[in-house]
Amino acid sequence: MVPMPESPEVQALAEDLGGRLVGREIVGVELEEFRALKTRTRPLDELVGAKVTGVRRWGKHVELATDRAHLVISFGRAGWALLLPSGEEPQTDAAPLARLRFDDGSVLTVTDAGSWLSLGLSVVAAATEVPSIAKLGPDPLDPGYSREQFDGIVAGRRKQLKALLQEQESLSGIGNAYSDEILHVAKLSPVMHAADLTAEERDRLFAAVKEVLTSAVAARRGIPLAQQKAAKVAAMRVHGRTGEPCPVCGGAILDVPGSKGAAQYCPNCQTGGVPLG
Ligand SMILES: [Zn+2]
Repeated sequence: MVPMPESPEVQALAEDLGGRLVGREIVGVELEEFRALKTRTRPLDELVGAKVTGVRRWGKHVELATDRAHLVISFGRAGWALLLPSGEEPQTDAAPLARLRFDDGSVLTVTDAGSWLSLGLSVVAAATEVPSIAKLGPDPLDPGYSREQFDGIVAGRRKQLKALLQEQESLSGIGNAYSDEILHVAKLSPVMHAADLTAEERDRLFAAVKEVLTSAVAARRGIPLAQQKAAKVAAMRVHGRTGEPCPVCGGAILDVPGSKGAAQYCPNCQTGGVPLG
């Protein structure tokens, strides 16, 4: 299974691209898969001749700002981007969807490794024109992210924790893998309803959200873009580790029932020793 890019990987990507692209001019664009472009009236061609002024992350999206239009890359389930020097081809099985060529010869290749296309490109005047960015909730990686914001999202919510953590309108940037990791660190069941959390459990969940994402950002920073996904997989405690021993208690990690093997938890640590289902 190809891991979905979540905020730690996308943050590493945005920092890497920012360090290498700010000040560079876009000298050519190629759209290989026309369905990837979500702004039909604003083609990638608008970016030719533009100079990159900044790169930033919004949830699981990256915005490439230029002195003309801005390009938003929404990674979806299995999208990614690689920036390679002139003449180097990306070593990946993922389909190239688009390329941006820069004045130093480097090429940004946008790919999707999924069985269906989930990556989107938008040419906009501001990132918030992209509907899924306009709807984003507060980002737990934002230094100003507060306990009040978090409590406002979980209090009274009749929604399972695993689903709530991935709700981009509530907490931006978390997907399938980090939601498993956060719940394991917080020692909470993925299917528990947010409304049923005690004050002490809310403390644990808030701390785990911050800790898991912040430490993942620190761990991913500086790793080459082509190795980001492998680094993420290797760092997982329970996600994707069905049948392996839990790193905390040594018990076997199980699939969350109904997840088709896409979500994992430790019954000893998270559900009082009683398997779900
Ligand atoms: Zn355990």
